[in-house]
Amino acid sequence: MPKYIYLFTELDDVEARTGGDHEAVRGLLGGKGANLADMTRLGVPVPHGFTATTEACNAYLSAGGELPEGLWEQALEAVAVLEEQTGKGFGDPSAPLLVSCRSGAKFSMPGMMDTVLNIGMNDLTAEAMAASAGDGRFAFDLYRRLLHMYGTVVLNIEDDAFERELEDRKRTAGVSVDAELGGDDWRDICERYKAVVRTFSGREFPPDPREQLRTATEAVFRSWNGKRAVDYRTASGIPHDLGTAVNVQTMVFGNLDSSSATGVCMSRNGTTGEPGLEGDYLENAQGEDVVAGTRRTEPLSGLAERSPELYTELEDIARRLERHHRNMQDLEFTIEAGKLWVLQTRDGKRTAEAEVRIAVDMADEGLISRREALERVSAAQVDVFLHPKFDPRAIGSREPLAEGLAVSPGAAVGQVVFDADRAERAGSAERPVVLVRPDTKPDDVHGMLAAVGIVTSRGGRTSHAALVARQFGRPAVVGVSSMEIDLVGRELRVGDAVVREGDWISVDGTRGLLYEGEIPTVVADLDNPYLARLLSWADDVRRIGVRANADYPRDAERARSHGAEGIGLCRTEHMFFETDRLPIVQRMIMATESHEREAAVMELLPLQRSDFEGLFRVMDGLPVIIRLIDPPLHEFLPAASQLTADLADLKLRLQHLQTLPEIDRALEEIATKQRYLERARALHEDNPMLGTRGVRLGILIPELVRMQVRAIFEAACGCARDGVDVHPEIMIPLVTHVQELREMRGALEEEGRRVMDETGVDVPYRFGTMIEIPRAALTADEIAEVAEFFSFGTNDLTQTTFGISRDDAEQGFLVEYLRRGVLPSNPFETLDEDGVGRLMEWAVGEGRRARPELEMGICGEHGGDPASIGLCHTLGLDYVSCSPFRVPIARLAAAHAALADRAADAEVEPEPVAARA
Ligand code: ADP
Ligand code: MG
Ligand code: MG
Repeated sequence: MPKYIYLFTELDDVEARTGGDHEAVRGLLGGKGANLADMTRLGVPVPHGFTATTEACNAYLSAGGELPEGLWEQALEAVAVLEEQTGKGFGDPSAPLLVSCRSGAKFSMPGMMDTVLNIGMNDLTAEAMAASAGDGRFAFDLYRRLLHMYGTVVLNIEDDAFERELEDRKRTAGVSVDAELGGDDWRDICERYKAVVRTFSGREFPPDPREQLRTATEAVFRSWNGKRAVDYRTASGIPHDLGTAVNVQTMVFGNLDSSSATGVCMSRNGTTGEPGLEGDYLENAQGEDVVAGTRRTEPLSGLAERSPELYTELEDIARRLERHHRNMQDLEFTIEAGKLWVLQTRDGKRTAEAEVRIAVDMADEGLISRREALERVSAAQVDVFLHPKFDPRAIGSREPLAEGLAVSPGAAVGQVVFDADRAERAGSAERPVVLVRPDTKPDDVHGMLAAVGIVTSRGGRTSHAALVARQFGRPAVVGVSSMEIDLVGRELRVGDAVVREGDWISVDGTRGLLYEGEIPTVVADLDNPYLARLLSWADDVRRIGVRANADYPRDAERARSHGAEGIGLCRTEHMFFETDRLPIVQRMIMATESHEREAAVMELLPLQRSDFEGLFRVMDGLPVIIRLIDPPLHEFLPAASQLTADLADLKLRLQHLQTLPEIDRALEEIATKQRYLERARALHEDNPMLGTRGVRLGILIPELVRMQVRAIFEAACGCARDGVDVHPEIMIPLVTHVQELREMRGALEEEGRRVMDETGVDVPYRFGTMIEIPRAALTADEIAEVAEFFSFGTNDLTQTTFGISRDDAEQGFLVEYLRRGVLPSNPFETLDEDGVGRLMEWAVGEGRRARPELEMGICGEHGGDPASIGLCHTLGLDYVSCSPFRVPIARLAAAHAALADRAADAEVEPEPVAARA
């Protein structure tokens, strides 16, 4: 018969059974149970207890709700040990043993499953405790909590049924807060609660503590499959088959008297990562009172003032636990009559900002290695850093509507909704919603996930709303006490201001402020010194370079300040769309005579030259890849349908014109539009993506690309003369056959030489190509004979390899494919390793064989996707190029790829000295 029950003192046995590995111990005892046993061994004051394993839970669930054989007998033996350890007896009126029955899975799921406190209370023990205390307040308060929790958790009775009785009694007693209720009030409430249990479940509340414990244990096992637990696991990617352990633990009482308290604390600040304890506590309170957010908590600094020695003890324990776990800890503690007890420790949830700071600080403190610091911060967290914040200029002197606690940073703008279901229904990218509640409960998580921001009027830094918001990166402000929420009238009021459901508000989770209306946001700059250091460590280990896709000098500047090592893609056609240039480009397209076309092209020359000059100056010393014109020409003309409509309009108007000059002008306009329409029709292609674009345009209209190359070289030579270190790389798009490249390169290089001769300045340069058509990848050896660099254009390469049009597919069948799991992920977001990746691998090999010094990179959107960056690293590319905002993410992802390689080589760094204290 397997051993299902382990005392907190039996950690050695568990380790012997699981091979000593902490992960495996956590798998069996759950995170809470493993840490309670671990703290017991470390000598941290933990109330006695035992754990029923996750194995027991899984056996119970798979038997359809039947406790496995032997479990209950083992539990009773363990209860006997507790009785001995505490000198109390289960159900013994003279010294009643009370326990909690606590859920605890391998991965922490705060508040997602159930816990029952004060098991062991019944009429007899309550009366006896009341008699010996001379007052029933404490005893019946414990009892009513048990009745309430047992009723909701074990018997599935609605919370409201209990709340109503409590409110009713308060009304008759003429008090407004629970604390003013006396012993007789609580005794009466217990009677009412027993009646609630009877009415709603058709059963009596079981007075036998052993039966209470058994049924509570089963209920906690079942809570693993409760809706909110399942939703939470799905949202956080926790497997559904782990099961939960149950921890049975002797009660300690933070609600015993005024020298008692209960609280939660983080060993470092969970929002900013700053060192030092952060937390909330409540005097004369029990367990749930703090996290429920229903009573106003006090910050821990209050404890430091009132009981400095207890505060120091807590600080000391937190530090020890931090060293032991080498991570920031989140503790639950209770003070019973001046004695400190720790009830839980776990790695604390934190914001991305705190994660970065804590990783860097801990590496500096020698608690972890730099490598570990890098591994702890995910690329997704760096992404969160780059989330928008409010534009300070837009805020200006605007008065905030209200202020609360800043618990999850970032800026959120959305329409107010007052309940989670509505948030879930209404929330979308087009219609973002902000969830506003008095407080949140685990049942609200679906609505919190659907909202872009979260606001509560109650609660502290460790309230449910704060924890969940932080974990899922939703900006949040809690404890906005000046805000009155009218859930029935569906509005909130702050002073005279009224905000109704559907009105827009702006939530500043970084500063804890709310504003009426929509405030524009700006993207955060990367001035965070901790992130900068972490990324510099990333640069030390990564092997693959990071460049940026940037078309304008201001983008290039941002890219460089984010750490880009060059430009991997400058799209020259973007410049053609600017209002002062488009007419020139159109004139060029419309030209019927070659001298007309030449004239238009030459008008573009100085404009392009100055664009490139800007880029070269910003990228002084770094390579700049400039891609020659790529899109089909019709994109520069008005759409044929638009022109047809305009023409119909004009012709109609013509009939009503009076004066000759008016008529002349209209006729001229009609003629022009007519010409545009003919041209647009002539340029029309059924599949423009596979049509006259890229290198094909260059071959058909050589003047245009020759001008672009002249502009590049004139800019480069001019900058070089001014002392700028320029490295232009000219890139020819959409090549399918080496002959295309031969023709283009010959003509273009000639133009480049000509400019260098004219200016008398020589600059280093390269000619290369994009690899974005399977044929180019397949014939990479031939192409590499002419190209000095390859840049994988993975957007087009994915389209052409899959044979699907991205624009159509992402609105159409691809959505369905992803939903049904036909494709594991969107190939336009994450490189398709098995198909596109294999083509790339082939091209890399063939290319390098033909030209060993061939420079290779990627410039599709995949260049900013962490998984794809990992693949590029493995393929041995020289760099990835991504949007300037994603450069920091790419730097970290590249480091992660390099570290994963090293781990595979089993090259292990020595453990830092201070660890495992
Ligand atoms: P959760 O996972 O929701 O935090 P817990 O099992 O940790 O659930 O318990 C809920 C609350 O009850 C916590 O505040 C915890 O500290 C408190 N609690 C649990 N067991 C005891 C106990 N034996 N004595 C005092 N307080 C307890
Ligand atoms: Mg807990
Ligand atoms: Mg392309």
